[in-house]
Order: sequence, then structure tokens, then C-alpha cells
Amino acid sequence: MKTIHKTLLAWYDAKGRHQLPWRNTDNLYHIYLSEIMLQQTQVNRVRDEYYPQFLEKFPSLETLANATLEDVLASWSGLGYYRRAKNLHATAQLVKNNLPHKELELLKLPGIGRYTASAICCFGLSQNIPVVDTNISRVIKRFFALVDAKDKEVWDKATTIINQKKPRDHNLALMDLGSLICLPKNPKCTECPLQENCLGKDEAEMYTKTKKKEYITMELFFGIYIKDNQIALKYSDDNMYKDMLVLPSVEPIEENFIGQFKHAYTKYRLDVKLYTLEEFEGDVIWIDLSNFDDAPISSLTKKAKKLLN
Ligand code: SF4
Repeated sequence: MKTIHKTLLAWYDAKGRHQLPWRNTDNLYHIYLSEIMLQQTQVNRVRDEYYPQFLEKFPSLETLANATLEDVLASWSGLGYYRRAKNLHATAQLVKNNLPHKELELLKLPGIGRYTASAICCFGLSQNIPVVDTNISRVIKRFFALVDAKDKEVWDKATTIINQKKPRDHNLALMDLGSLICLPKNPKCTECPLQENCLGKDEAEMYTKTKKKEYITMELFFGIYIKDNQIALKYSDDNMYKDMLVLPSVEPIEENFIGQFKHAYTKYRLDVKLYTLEEFEGDVIWIDLSNFDDAPISSLTKKAKKLLN
């Protein structure tokens, strides 16, 4: 195991993603934020488009706690999975500027599961605990040739190979290995520092077969109602975009058709059609078109506006 640790860390020193901003801080809030953003969102988008801007607006847990949910959602706009932002905000309000330092305490907070709690403790506090995300899980399953392994088995294996002297670098190395070398398809075994001891390398993909995803396709019809350079929006009442502003739904009328676009959101594959509206009955929120980007608006609604432009 000593040799494996040494080889893995040497590879990490040479090839790891050391420049990621959340790896160059011991600020627990910054690490926590990055982990929440990185769930379901690609590293480059988080690093370039969201993480710095969010921290500029909410530099501490305290500023986040004092902000309105509307403001937080507006800053999260476009990242999707808005429940993450709501949980982040709720946690900030609960912890009074101090995240707990214990995994079990972190697990009691909204939206923090085993992965996030262990990542905060290991990456922020160098605690000697395993961290298992999808990348690390793939490496572990292949390295130990685990067939149909359940999460617990993978976490247990991760515990057995932890480098107790350098747990933080060890876990980050495994994460980068999964992201850069032990790829879901066509892993680059010849470049892998673990290849000599990897039990699954000859049939690597067999150990990480995933079920084909099933998608739900839907058609959605939205109305565009603009008056005095303001657009009519509504707070969504469906779970998909709860607390976000969306265009009002309409019955499609052929002669009012403006255009259409496709949109993917979680398991949904949406065909969105837009129609002009001459008037609208019911409550709406008027958003000035020049302030559109500062409102809590979903990426679907942003796409609609782009089409309108
Ligand atoms: S040798 Fe291949 S399958 Fe094994 S951990 Fe490395 S990249 Fe993955």
C-alpha cells in the first residue's frame, strides 16, 4: 500500500488539478460552496462562470445568511437544480457563520449528504476520512474489480486504502485520476499510476456499467407579454422551478406562434414553444427587461428571452 500511495501522490503532484480555486483555500465556506456547485455542474463552468461571481456577492456565510432567497436564487440562475441554492441559504441561516467541523454534525444540515460532509472535513480540515464521489467510486470499483458494488462497499474499500499521512492529497488524487485517466469509457490504463495493482483494468468498463437513462419528453407552451419594456413573469408553482420566475403558461394559438427551442432539465427533455400574448389575466410580476439578468430566472426562461431577442 505504501508503494501505491507513493505512486499515486507522485502522479498527483505532476498532473493534478492544483489550480482549482477551491483547492487553494482552507475557508470552509468556500470549499462547501464549491462542493455544492460541483454537484451536477461541470468544473469549468463552476470555476469560470459561477464560483467567483457568487463569492463576490456573498463573500461569507454571514452575508449569505442575511441575503434574501430571491437574491441567492438570482445568483444561482442558470446553474439549475435550484434546491441546492435553497439548501445553501438555509444552512447559512442555521450555522451562524460557522460550519461544524464534524462529519456527523454536518450531515444534519439541509442538503449535506455523506459526500459533501466528508469533502468539507477532508479538503477543508485535512481529516483522515475517505471521500467518494462518482469519479472516485469508478476508480475504486475498477481497482478492486467490484461487480455490482453497493455504495457502502465502495466507501468501505475507500477507507481501507486511505493514506493516513496525506488524506487530503490522496482523495484529491483519486478524484483527479477518475476525472482525467480512469474515464467512464476507454480509461487510459497505460497512463494510470495504479495500473500495476489494478484488478479490473482488463475489463474496466464491466465494473462501472450504468443503466441507460430514461428521459421524459414534454411540450411546454409559454406566453410572451411585454409592456413598456417590461416582461410579465410568474413565480413557478411546479417543483421543477419552485421559487423561480417563469413565463406564464398558455394555450397554444397558431397565429401567435413566435418560435421554439429544445431544453434539457434533469430527466426532462422539453420542446418549448413561445406565443405572443395581447393581454393576461391573473397575477404577474413585471420585470424590467434591462434588469432581467438580476432576477431569479431559470435557464429555460433565459433561453426564451434569447430567442425573443
Ligand atoms: S488501471 Fe485503468 S481501470 Fe485501473 S484504475 Fe487505472 S485507469 Fe482505472
